[in-house]
Amino acid sequence: MARDCVGRRRERPANPYNVPMDGKGEKRGVAILGSTGSIGTQALEVVEAHADRLRVVALTAHRNHRLLEEQALRFRPLMVGMVDEPSARELRRRLQGTGIRVSRGPESLLEAALHPDAHIVLNAVVGSAGLPPTLAALGAGKRLALANKESMVAGGELVLRALREGGEIIPVDSEHGAVFHCLRGEEMRFVESVVLTASGGPFRGRRREELASVTVREALAHPTWSMGRKITVDSATLMNKGLEVIEAHFLFGLPYSRIKVVIHPQSVIHSLVEFVDGSFAAQLSLPDMRLPISLALSYPERWGPPFTRTVLPELERLTFEEVDREAFACLDLAYRAGEAGGTAPAVLNAANEVAVDAFLHGKLPFLGIEEVIANVLEEHNPRPVCDLRDVQEAEEWARERAEDAVRMKAG
Ligand code: NDP
Ligand code: MG
Repeated sequence: MARDCVGRRRERPANPYNVPMDGKGEKRGVAILGSTGSIGTQALEVVEAHADRLRVVALTAHRNHRLLEEQALRFRPLMVGMVDEPSARELRRRLQGTGIRVSRGPESLLEAALHPDAHIVLNAVVGSAGLPPTLAALGAGKRLALANKESMVAGGELVLRALREGGEIIPVDSEHGAVFHCLRGEEMRFVESVVLTASGGPFRGRRREELASVTVREALAHPTWSMGRKITVDSATLMNKGLEVIEAHFLFGLPYSRIKVVIHPQSVIHSLVEFVDGSFAAQLSLPDMRLPISLALSYPERWGPPFTRTVLPELERLTFEEVDREAFACLDLAYRAGEAGGTAPAVLNAANEVAVDAFLHGKLPFLGIEEVIANVLEEHNPRPVCDLRDVQEAEEWARERAEDAVRMKAG
């Protein structure tokens, strides 16, 4: 079957979801899941900049009820969702009389994802908690602007199955956004490989021995991007790039051997597509996540003016390096889990979530992250993924094994 770059049949009309286009009068309704996070708050800046084209219909957070309240009063969504129950009660009390409905629990994510007024669902939740709303949005035939890479890693096969029935994904992760936009108008049969760029994180150039004693504060000091804590640690271990390799495999339907990673410290080239004729297409701009967010919300249009203007003569040299795969072993762990398939990527992701959390709480040294993940993967016998339950069982098992491994290392 002919497929476009997000795994769907190609014969679909250009705008099958009736997303309002410029000049038609109607605004695009957006549901933002994870609105209090780094991506979520930047998405609201994009909405604010394009208030004539976009309106917020739903917002969700985990427990930051103060910020969600502020956002609700400012953007006046029809509903807000708060996963943590006590925070939801507090928010409900504070939003009384505003007419904004407050939902609680993990189901509130589904409610936001399925909101009938949402033309676009932006999933900016962190972690595999984002998988159920990803599947729900696609199941309802929605356009999904996907930042939550963990849902693609943990449930890639389920996501592809949902996509075959309906819905579409516009990637927000900057690398995949870059590849997606480079592929517009191209046919996958002419693609040789996809090259994901990585800044290399704060520890680029360090040898493995030098990584043993790095601190949380050092790991959180990313050289080019300002992001949430979990993804910032993932960038320091290069697991972020590993997760992105798996994400790219599912999004673009390429085998792992044709998904490459190169270090590009300036983060100006967001990723590249290599074609069979030896030419490359790339997307360039100074790093600013509001660009991929804006591209996803404006698709298939492009809206100006830019948030950050890139002046070519002002750019420093653009350089590329090989990844030091010995110092940053997480990348190969991800390739291995991806190749193993089935439940292995979900197990990799869940073990990583536990290990990163333990590192952030001072319970695990930096190199302990990859050791915990390697131990858990070693013990895992991958099984096929038929439904969400298969993913959740594999994740539960991986979390327990990873917590044991963390305890052993701490003791
Ligand atoms: P943050 O940690 O900054 O924000 C996460 C958001 O998700 C918050 O709104 C948080 O709510 C909410 N949340 C946390 N846990 C849960 C849960 N269990 N259920 C529901 N909601 C939850 O993360 P980022 O914005 O950095 O990242 C979001 C996603 O985007 C991640 O998957 C990341 O990998 C991806 N991404 C991020 C980039 C970036 O520049 N930040 C770049 C590319 C991809 P609360 O505030 O209440 O805790
Ligand atoms: Mg990225």
